[in-house]
Amino acid sequence: MVYDIDGIKRRNPIEAVVTGHGVALRRSGAHLVGRCPFHQDEHPSLVVYPETSSFYCFGCQAGGDVIDFVRRAERLSFREALERLSDNGPLPRPNPGPAERLSLDDRMILTAACGVYHETLLRTPKALQYLEERGIAVPVLRRCRLGYSDGHALRPYLRRRRLSLRRATEMGLLWPQGGETMAGRIVVPELRGAQCIWMLGRVLRDDREPKYRGLSLPKPILGWERVHGRPRIFVTEGAFDYLTGVSWGLPICALLGTQVRAERLAFLERARRVLIVFDNDGPGREAASGLSRRLGPRARLVELPEGVKDLNDLGRQPGGRGAFFRLVKEADRGGEEAGREPACR
Ligand SMILES: [Zn+2]
Repeated sequence: MVYDIDGIKRRNPIEAVVTGHGVALRRSGAHLVGRCPFHQDEHPSLVVYPETSSFYCFGCQAGGDVIDFVRRAERLSFREALERLSDNGPLPRPNPGPAERLSLDDRMILTAACGVYHETLLRTPKALQYLEERGIAVPVLRRCRLGYSDGHALRPYLRRRRLSLRRATEMGLLWPQGGETMAGRIVVPELRGAQCIWMLGRVLRDDREPKYRGLSLPKPILGWERVHGRPRIFVTEGAFDYLTGVSWGLPICALLGTQVRAERLAFLERARRVLIVFDNDGPGREAASGLSRRLGPRARLVELPEGVKDLNDLGRQPGGRGAFFRLVKEADRGGEEAGREPACR
């Protein structure tokens, strides 16, 4: 097949493709800048030049055209990148939805809220203690920018920064009648390119309902950046299971529930092995085997020991981490044995 390279470039504006890969861009004169996805970029070093359809990173010297960007971002060959960008159907975005639908202002508001909550957490002993009890250590809560809402810091902060309180209310950060929706909750943000695109609040004590509250924005895959493009992925249900996995350095994400619509699974496309670690209860087991059936032979179920509720629960038990890695080994092996039997698909 012969590709019309100029046509492909024309039909795939570089700024749209870069944004589609989770990089938040802001305008700077004639070009756009953002945090480079190819190195640990603390300051925006990636410059995108729409007029020449090219990019260059002043941090790691990565550069080229839209095809080079896709090759690098998704670890594709030249031909595969052309296929991905060519006109046969819409570009299957690795990151469909949430991040792209948010305006730059929306992301600024969410990132500001995330910062306020993170600072608040670091000076709120009862919130830190809650996280410690759930086995989430300080380096992890810093890396994931976890937060805590004291119920009154956000509004004055947004006002000072001249960010829209109306939009903050629409997105579900503030109540229309005043007050913060996340008040008294541990806040787990979803970060893309170091910007916050969504957050989930968890009450400190189980006697308050609802236990979890999200924003009024589309629910993302929590931890998408940790798993995107990885060959081996752990998938779990809840935010705290996810945080336990992060503590153990796993490429892990959370679906934030057991509902797995097909379009939400697109991020698993390239994974060669998907280890499913859902809750150890009826609905969890049912959802796990449903997901495993859909993914086919590359899926493995990690079965938690009896009496252990979920991954976070296991993580809090003495020897939990070691037990988990033994279970993973078993899950990997179990699949191989099954694979030697005649396939019945
Ligand atoms: Zn770079």
